[in-house]
Order: sequence, then C-alpha cells, then structure tokens
Amino acid sequence: MSVNQQAHTGPPYGQPQPGYQGYQQPAYGGQSLPGVPQAQYGAYNGPVPGYQQPVPPQGYFPSLGFPSKGSPVSLNSDTSSLAPNFIGSLRAPPTSGAPPPASGASHPSGHLAYSQFEHGDVQNGIPASAAPMQRPPASQPFLPGSAPTPVSQIPTFQQYGAPPASVQQLRNHMAGMTIGGTAASAPPPAGLGYGVGPSSYPPTTGAPRPPAMPGPPLPGQTVAGPPSSQPNHVSSPPPPSTMAGLHPGPPMSGLHGPPPPTHPPQPGYQMQQNGSFGQMRGPPPNYGGAYPGAPNYGSPPGPPPPPKRLDPDSIPSPQLNELPPQQKPRHRIDPDAIPSPIQVIEDDRNNRGSEPFVTGVRGQVPPLVTTNFLVKDQGNASPRYIRCTSYNIPCTSDMAKQSQVPLAAVIKPLAALPPEETVPYLVDHGESGPVRCNRCKAYMCPFMQFIEGGRRFQCCFCSCVTEVPPHYFQHLDHTGKRVDFYDRPELSLGSYEFLATVDYCKNNKFPSPPAFIFMIDVSYNAVKSGLVRLICEELKSLLDYLPREGNMEESAIRVGFVTYNKVLHFYNVKSSLAQPQMMVVSDVADMFVPLLDGFLVNVNESRTVIASLLDQIPEMFADTRETETVFAPVIQAGLEALKAAECAGKLFIFHTSLPIAEAPGKLKNRDDRKLINTDKEKTLFQPQTSFYNNLAKDCVAQGCCVDLFLFPNQYLDVATLGVVPYQTGGSIFKYAYFQLETDQYRFLNDLRRDVQKEVGFDAVMRVRTSTGIRATDFFGAFYMSNTTDVEMAGLDCDKTITVEFKHDDKLSEDSGALLQCALLYTSCAGQRRLRIHNLSLNCCTQLADLYRNCETDTLINYLAKYAYRGVLSSPVKTVRDALINQCAQILACYRKNCASPSSAGQLILPECMKLLPVYLNCVLKSDVLQPGPEVTTDDRAYVRQLVTSMDVAETNVFFYPRLLPLTKADVDSDSLPAAIRNSEERLSKGDIYLLENGLNIFVWVGVNVQQGLIQNLFGVSSFSQISNALSTLPVLENPFSKKVRSIVDMLQGQRSRYMKLIIVKQEDKLEMLFKHFLVEDKSLSGGASYVDFLCHMHKEIRQLLS
Ligand SMILES: [Zn+2]
Repeated sequence: MSVNQQAHTGPPYGQPQPGYQGYQQPAYGGQSLPGVPQAQYGAYNGPVPGYQQPVPPQGYFPSLGFPSKGSPVSLNSDTSSLAPNFIGSLRAPPTSGAPPPASGASHPSGHLAYSQFEHGDVQNGIPASAAPMQRPPASQPFLPGSAPTPVSQIPTFQQYGAPPASVQQLRNHMAGMTIGGTAASAPPPAGLGYGVGPSSYPPTTGAPRPPAMPGPPLPGQTVAGPPSSQPNHVSSPPPPSTMAGLHPGPPMSGLHGPPPPTHPPQPGYQMQQNGSFGQMRGPPPNYGGAYPGAPNYGSPPGPPPPPKRLDPDSIPSPQLNELPPQQKPRHRIDPDAIPSPIQVIEDDRNNRGSEPFVTGVRGQVPPLVTTNFLVKDQGNASPRYIRCTSYNIPCTSDMAKQSQVPLAAVIKPLAALPPEETVPYLVDHGESGPVRCNRCKAYMCPFMQFIEGGRRFQCCFCSCVTEVPPHYFQHLDHTGKRVDFYDRPELSLGSYEFLATVDYCKNNKFPSPPAFIFMIDVSYNAVKSGLVRLICEELKSLLDYLPREGNMEESAIRVGFVTYNKVLHFYNVKSSLAQPQMMVVSDVADMFVPLLDGFLVNVNESRTVIASLLDQIPEMFADTRETETVFAPVIQAGLEALKAAECAGKLFIFHTSLPIAEAPGKLKNRDDRKLINTDKEKTLFQPQTSFYNNLAKDCVAQGCCVDLFLFPNQYLDVATLGVVPYQTGGSIFKYAYFQLETDQYRFLNDLRRDVQKEVGFDAVMRVRTSTGIRATDFFGAFYMSNTTDVEMAGLDCDKTITVEFKHDDKLSEDSGALLQCALLYTSCAGQRRLRIHNLSLNCCTQLADLYRNCETDTLINYLAKYAYRGVLSSPVKTVRDALINQCAQILACYRKNCASPSSAGQLILPECMKLLPVYLNCVLKSDVLQPGPEVTTDDRAYVRQLVTSMDVAETNVFFYPRLLPLTKADVDSDSLPAAIRNSEERLSKGDIYLLENGLNIFVWVGVNVQQGLIQNLFGVSSFSQISNALSTLPVLENPFSKKVRSIVDMLQGQRSRYMKLIIVKQEDKLEMLFKHFLVEDKSLSGGASYVDFLCHMHKEIRQLLS
C-alpha cells in the first residue's frame, strides 16, 4: 500500500489553503492539464445557502412556483491426467486432427453484422477519443498547496438571478410548436418506394452466412411496399384536436382556464369538446374519423380544410367509411405538431448549456444528458454519477402508487468526468477509518447535523446520534456549521473518496494489485481469420498502457497469458527465462493452474519473454485443425490463477464458437426462432445451464471479472456465455463475421479502451436512504448474495446500476429524502477505497410537483431495464403490455390530477414527460421486445445485456438515434449540424445523413446528391460508384471530407464502444437496415409509428380515465 497514501500526521485533510483547486490533475495518461487560472474555489468561499436547508436561495425556486408545465399534445481428454508438458521451447499443441471447418461455418465475406463498429484514426494505445484518455485518475488525494485545478470559475449562485430555465424552455417549446395547417415548413412526403432490401443481418441458423453486403436478398426477407405486419396499434386515428394545438400548460389547480384566445386555427383537427372520455371508447381501435359535432377549438367554422397531406400509413377505417362524405376528411396528425425530441433537446441545450450546473440546491433537475454542461459540486453528487427519474418524490406510498411513476436512480459510481471537472478527492481519516453513523453506518456527508457544540452528530439517514471521534472534533460557527466545513470534502461535497482501512479488506488483509489475464482462442476459425495474430501484435504495445494510478510510472497490474481450443495452454513468462514455456492442461474436467511462479508477471520485467511469446503464438497454431473449443474451463483457469495469486483481476477472453467440446459448461445449439412470440420465448434469453451461474458466483467471490470478446460466425449462445461476464460486472463485445480488413480497427479500439479504462475490483455497492424510502430493486451487471449489497468483481467507468426505491414510511416536504451510494473497491494499484455519492431530493404532497420534476430520459432507462429483465421470466407480449399500461397510468394520473378538466378530449402530457410516448415506443420496438426477422437470437441476448448496464445518455441515443444532415454542416465551424427527427420523410434525396445509436454509425446517401459532394466525401465520381463495403470514410483533402470525418471522430469519442460505420445508399438493399433505426416510422417488425403510438397511448389513457 504505497500508492497515494498520505501519512496522517496532523489533520488528514490538511489546510484549507489554497483551497481545493490546489491539487493537480495528472491526466489518465500521465499528462497534466494546462493550469487554467482560477480564483479561489468559488464554492467554498461563500456561504452556500442551498444545502442542509430546504429553502433554496432567494429568488430561485427550482421546483416551486413555476407555471404548470403541462403540455397539451397535444477441454477432453479423457486423457488422463494432465501432464504439464514441459517444453523447453514452445512447441505446437496437440491437434485433434479434425478437418478444418467441421464445426465452423463457411467463411463469409463482407457481411454486415448487427451492432458493430469501425475504425478510426488509430494510434497505438491511444483511443480515437482523446477525451476519455485525458481524464485524471479516479481519485485525487488532496494535496494542500499544490497547483490550481482547471475548474472553470464561476461566481457562486450567480446564475440564480436568471429566470428558471424551464420557464424559458416552456416558452421556447411553445414557440416551436406548430399546428397542422400552419406548418408550411413540413417536409414533402418522401418517396415511398425506395425499396426495402434484404436484411443484411447474419442468418440465425448455423447456415453459411449470406453473401457479401450487396448480395441478393435473403429468402423471405424481401419486402416490397408496405410491411405485411401491421402494428398492433391503431392506424391513423384522428388526432384529438389538441395534439396539434397549443394549450397552455395545464394547469395545476387554480389555473384552469380556457385556452388562450391566441390559439391559431387548427384546420383539419377537430376537437372533441364534449368533455366525455367515455365516448371515445366506442369504436375501440379506430377512432378513425372526424368527431362529428365537435366544435373547432378556435378555428373558424365551415367545412374542414383539405388534408394537409396524405397519410401513407393510413388505412381507412370502417367508421370512417360510414360517415357522410362531408365528414370524411383524412385527418392526419402533423408530425411537426407532436412533441419533438429534437426540439426538446435543442431547447435544453439553449437554456441550460451555457452555465454550470451547481449542485448546491436540493432536488434540482439537471440539464438533459444531451446537453453539454459543466457540473460544480456543492454538496450533491453530479448528475454524471446519479440521475433520478424524479427529483421531487411523493411523500406517501399511496401517492407514488397512484402516479405509477417509478422512483429510481441511475448510478454510475466511477463515471469518467470531462477534464474541466474535479475528480473526487481522496480523504484519509487514518487508522480509525471513515467517520460513520453508529446505527445505520452511513458515511459522514454534508447532510449530517453536528450538535452539542460539535461533540456529536445526528445522522441524516436514521436520526441516530453518534459521538464525534476526538481526532475529528471541530468547533461550530454561529450557524451551527463546523468551522472546517469548506476544508473537508465529506462535509461540503456531494462526491468524495475515503481511504479504506484494513477492516474494509477481505480477510482483513490489504489486497494485492490486480492482474489481467489474456485468454486467446486458438481454434481453427480464430487462427484462419487472422484474429490470433492481430491480438498478439496488439498486445505487444497495448501492455504498456495498463491502467496506472496517479503519478505512478508503471502499472501495478500483473499480466498472464493462456491460449486454448479444447485444451488449455498456460505460459511461463518469468523474466529470468530465455524463452517462454508452455504447459498444456488437457484434463479440463477439473481445471487447475499448472504453474504459479512465472504465470502472472510485471510487464516491464518480463518484456522480452512476453514479446517472444506473442511472436510465437500465431506461428505455433498456424496449422491447427482443431475446431472445437471449451469455455467454462477457460474461466475456471483464470479464476484459479487469481486465487493462487491471492488477487482480484480481469480475464480478457477472445472467443469464437459455441463450446461443444467435452468439458464442464459444454453447450448445445438450441437456437430456435420458432419460439418467438410463444410462452417459451423467454428461454432464448435464459442460460441453457445453471453451471455458469455457479461459476459466476465463484468469480465474484474472488474478484475475478470477465470481459468477453466474441467473434462468432454462427450462433454461440450469448445468453449462456454472457452469464459470467454479466454477473461479474464485465463487458461483452461481439463482432459477428469478423473480418480482419473491415473489423480490426473497431475491435482494436474497443480492446484498447477496455484495457486502459478505469476499473475498480472486488467492489461492493450499497445505497442508503433516509427514513421513508429504501432501495428495493437493482438492475445492472452484478451479483447479489443478499438484498442490499450489489457485488461486482469489477466495475468500470462505463457501468451503470439502476436502483429502484419504494416507500416504507411517510416522507416530509421539510426534510426531503436523501440517498447515499457507497462503493467499496480496490483501485488498479491495489488500494482499497470507498467512493461516496450523496444526493438530496425534494418531497411533495402535490402530484403536480412530482410531474414537474421528472426526467424522462432516466425514466426510459429504468423502464427499458425493467422490461429487458422481464423477458427472462414473462412472455414478451406481457412485458410490452405492462410497459404500455404503466406509462398510460402515469399519464392518466397526470391528466386526472394535474390538468384542467376543461380539456377533456385532449391528450395532455406533462411538460417533463412529453417525450415519454415517443421514447416508450422506441423501447417497445427494440429488437429485444419486437424482433424483426433479421435479428438473431444472439443479437437479442447481446443487446439485452448491453442495455442493462447503460447509463442514461447511452439509452437515450440507443433508443432514439441521432440523425444529422451532413450536407448541412458548416465546414468552417466546430459545431454539429442540427439534428433532425428519425423519420424517412425528413430525408431529402439530395442530402447525405449520419445516424448514430451508440453501436453503429450509418452514412446515408440520397440518390440525388450532387456529384461534387460525392466526389468530396467518397472520392468517386458518381453515386453508383460508392462502395457500401467501405468501413471507413476515405481521407480526402477537402473541407467537406474533413468536416464529416471530424464529426465521425467526435461521435466515436463520445461513446463507450467504437461504432461500426456503415455506408447506405438510398434504394440500396442495406437501406432496410438503416430504416430500422428511423424510429418515428412504422417498423418492418410491426412496430408502430410515433403518430400511431401516440394515438394508441391516448386511447389507453382515456380508457383508464373513464
Ligand atoms: Zn444513521
């Protein structure tokens, strides 16, 4: 324990001077950030009126007194025992003599696999994204008197003088909404006919993969014209008039009133003004016609104007046909009149992106995840660490049940911060350890109340009074605040770390530094594809970039190497050896590690031997004919090695096939798409054996985290192979039909980032709450052996845990509600630490306050994870229905309790939730819940596990991808072109677009794009010459090419995985894949369009209300 340990002689937290800015921020790679001039750490110089006090600073009422924000919108070997075969120098392993491609699949060419990524400007060891690598180490010890941190200085609370952002937001929103007849800016309907092509997804059976990307359609997948399957929702119902209209925010009680007279006319959208919800239920699915007799709200009398445009999706309903001709206008909701994600995102950027988010005030709703903003910690954890579904929670469980709004927090304990923000300080309280409440064991935090002159403190979570330990005593000032308040992170900040004492260590022993073990599949497919050589070449340089702590010159992490097919090969790479030694374990039934000394080594000490090994591995197996692999014994071998070394660590397993060789954990091919939409569909997501669950449990106990890189050419049962990575806090990366040429950059970028990123080991997380609520449910990649502790063998900076809370008592508006997330973990240098995040929330007795302080992006993150777990135990349809029902209840409760009764026929959505329907629809249409024919069972299992660990920003872009018109980009500016909505009708044939969802980047090229643009971007002279086999954009010296490539690089840098770049030409076969991501449109798998779904939700809400 020599790292960053501060001797504690004297006050552990040293002098207040010159403030927190005084510590250096060595960047992750060891480089320092430029010292930005900074005045005193502003937050600590002045009074901070916000926290510990329920009353916000004067003039700023983040959650009270706003106008209503309601928004109307409208291994086999029998062979004996192992014989550690000592080989003086390396020699080839035994081969089974099987003919090469026996169990392997045929070798594909240019195949487009689902959710893969792509290349970039690759620099060895340095990820394409500069940002993540420049971050400082996980924690900074507080070093009084050191250089200033580059935290941008802002005057404390200065921003409170401005009107609350959301008011402005509301105005902007209102200004931005248009109603049907007036929206002359509506894009022309896109040509319907560009033919949807065959799926380019991999086949689901073990059959040879389909031909290269531009190949012929797959049988049965060619779809021409409208999809045969109809969404299970109503087709083109007539809009309730207000969907197109602009009503003032519905009204909290007392604010009822007629719609503003300024209401523009709404030709075409007649309002149901009869105040009766029930009426709408009559013709159930198709409330398809006009609403006879409904007066137009503010629109001139007279015959309805002609339809603004034809609805390509609409199917005349019987009801409609029965209407008299004059009442049969084709009503169509104008997509521009329904809540637009793009508008909401833009408004939030404009309103909240310019000023830092200061966390001093309880219950503040942070800016959206899509807004760039700085965070200044003044007592509550940054939204980068914790986001909540609502920042104002109901005081009683009855209210919570009535609203059906889930109370959940999405927590990313080790989140990476932008360079401008300060990483949590490391506090050392000496041998006695962190100060904690005697009863509930909560850690010292800004919300603890010191009493009796500072001799005791009352716990803000359980109210128990605890003596302040003598070494921690400090006097109080006249306000009752400790005089060292601003000198101690644990008293003044929302997030900080404690150095843990030996009491927090396993077996009361400080941990050893962790180890990384690289385990490489060397079966026929892995060798033949060039993968084995690629991995070995990469490791030679990558090993110099293992995570380091602070200013350490070299990483404390030791490394080990294993190769395998149906037997395992261990390597002795001890520095004293002239050549590496291989030991073969062919008895995989009872795995053990044949060598202890020389298996896990320091990279620098064994550099020559490791380099020699990595040079030899590809040669040794170059002529292998072994196609079968084992899998569980590989994990067991890594686990046993870590056990023997008495350390935690991570296994990097590179695997290619279903493990069918005789061994523990052997699997069968059980893929069966016929189970889709049956009660047995859930089995597709469940592991086929409980063997891996037990193995995962053993791994967690040892702190053995597994990261799995899969390179399948056919089904390999991700649902089962993923169990151990998933339960140990690890990651899965999948590169279907891996081809060296097109996929290596993407894989290498992922590998580099995965090896280098910040990770904690042997982690346990507990969330404590103040009296009245408690954490009841958890979602994410972890293991739980009891109901409160979330255990993760490894936890990296990208992993998120979603926690749901339930009431167990009443809450009070005065005291609010508090959360404290404590993560105990071992750093990459083997230091045991506690990372603490605190968050205070408001509590309300009025439902309206709840609905005004919700965050839909976080709500969707929770709902998606809830649903994705549900498919393990319930039929998918049941899960979908439950989702729809819950959201309808949420919105109906709002409608009933918070909106004006005068607006009966309207669909009224809370301002904070106006995107709930569009986002919910995206979740419902996702591959896990509604797979198209092209989505494989492995894809679904893969995505299901991925989403479960995503943070809010990732789920946001995953479910509602970002679509950018590249041809509208300003080549002279650093900014991105304004995003547009995900609908085909927003695409122009003359433009080029980029769509990204965190896993893929599509570049769509319209058929009428100017030749010059094509030349500039692709370096070819015509549309027809553009190759959609490109996996990167050519590097061309012209402004447009540079701009587009910089956009792509920037987007790559923002995501935790390297996205696969796919070029899609309009009217090309690949376009169907692209269209799958135009989530506002009706999907080929039967998913409803946004408009249809909104109407469906409206109907559901009406039913609940009647
Ligand atoms: Zn307590």
